Amino acid sequence: MRGQFPVEKFKDIKTPFYYYDVELLQKTLDVVKMETEKYPNFYVHYAIKANANPILLDIINRNGLGADCVSGGEINAAIKAGFPSEKIVFAGVGKSDQEINLSLDHDIFCFNVESIPELEVINELAAAKNKVAKVCFRINPNVGAHTHANITTGLAENKFGIAMEDMEFVVSKAAEMKNVDFIGLHFHIGSQILEMDDFIALCKRINELQNRLEAEGITVKHINVGGGLGIDYSKPNENPIPNFTDYFKTYSENLILRKDQCLHFELGRAIVGQCGSLITKTLYIKKGIQKQFCIVDAGMTELIRPALYGAFHLVENISSNEPNEIYDVVGPICESSDVFVKDFELNQCHRGDYMAIRSAGAYGETMASSYNCRELPKGYSSEDFKK
Ligand SMILES: *Cc1c(COP(=O)(O)O)cnc(C)c1O
Repeated sequence: MRGQFPVEKFKDIKTPFYYYDVELLQKTLDVVKMETEKYPNFYVHYAIKANANPILLDIINRNGLGADCVSGGEINAAIKAGFPSEKIVFAGVGKSDQEINLSLDHDIFCFNVESIPELEVINELAAAKNKVAKVCFRINPNVGAHTHANITTGLAENKFGIAMEDMEFVVSKAAEMKNVDFIGLHFHIGSQILEMDDFIALCKRINELQNRLEAEGITVKHINVGGGLGIDYSKPNENPIPNFTDYFKTYSENLILRKDQCLHFELGRAIVGQCGSLITKTLYIKKGIQKQFCIVDAGMTELIRPALYGAFHLVENISSNEPNEIYDVVGPICESSDVFVKDFELNQCHRGDYMAIRSAGAYGETMASSYNCRELPKGYSSEDFKK
């Protein structure tokens, strides 16, 4: 056992693979529960796109969270994992007819609608089934999040949501339609957000929009603020659980809720990010003129975040206690961006050493691809190694 990893039990398992510390996931969910219980009208949905591994979905469902889905496939995954359909929300700018029909058949809690043409299609498809679809409007609050440009979603220039100026118009449109029921407002400003000020800016914007709706005599039952709470990628051992206390408190102190209003959250990364590590084996140590490379058997096919967003993931040599040396840790894929870390200190590496690429529980396994005809990685629960 090196730190938290049962390295001696990895021998018989094909690398690379995902290792999920389910104890940490449970502890994280315990904190979420403890913090949200302070506020009886707060509801948390897990954003399935962060990680749809059935091991994790089962635990999250058993802890009472709802599910936030962005595709029909995710709705099926949620149903299969046992999430009650009345706790499933469905977001996305491009919902297909088939996905809408699937959601109507399951009587999901709510569609987070992102445009008028989408609203019209939902109304039509619901009418054909003699149903009424509950809808929230996803409003683009034009609030910037201090995060990577590719994962900010709440600016006017992003493709997501309905412009604020159009809010009253879409609400009046929905009122004319027989097969949709407008129940709330939805927002999501981005991901890996660590500045509470960004969430405060969203709260202020929602307060303004609620005032505008009230001026029209409308009070909605549900406000959904999306997700986006970040994790500490540089210090996963010191900070394994995000600061949910501050997060929920920020909303409770800054968002003015009306009587009986429910506040929904859609958290992905903050729930599962720290519980996952990508375990990979060292193939070769290659000494260059100015650098030495630790070439591992995992690459951007298993974890694309460094290549796609320039994201940092801590790498640990979990097989060696020898003095540190400096390495570039790289994968085998035929792309120059297939690099995990550059000029990084690791205990001296040898062929066969296991490396843990940390904080890979969110947007890791779900974003894996079979580029270069590679096999998709498997995910294992830490419990599997206790047998
Ligand atoms: C991706 C997404 C989330 C979850 O984001 P995290 O940063 O993982 O918390 C929540 N809601 C919507 C609509 C999303 O697209």
